Amino acid sequence: MTDQSAAVPRSVRRGPPITLTCDCGERRYLRYGERWKCEKCGKTWNTKRIPVEQYAAIRATQMRYRRIPLAISVFGGTTQLVVTWMIWPPPCFFIAGTAT
Ligand SMILES: [Zn+2]
Repeated sequence: MTDQSAAVPRSVRRGPPITLTCDCGERRYLRYGERWKCEKCGKTWNTKRIPVEQYAAIRATQMRYRRIPLAISVFGGTTQLVVTWMIWPPPCFFIAGTAT
């Protein structure tokens, strides 16, 4: 690792990979600060050219989009559990219900 990569915040370096599509159509996933030389056309790509602030913004957007399906799945799972309990109550609930 060079001195330059050390200047990149850890959160950014550990962030999601950047999808890079070369002019020739070759695609590669790179971490921030990584360099890639296209095997097809020989063009070099340097993700460090992307300003850190811009990458942080991209990362924030990606995280936000990742949170939506997670929220939906959590909500869906909870709803399903509640509905299941209403139809088939767990044994402890059932006992408590019949005892009274
Ligand atoms: Zn290329």
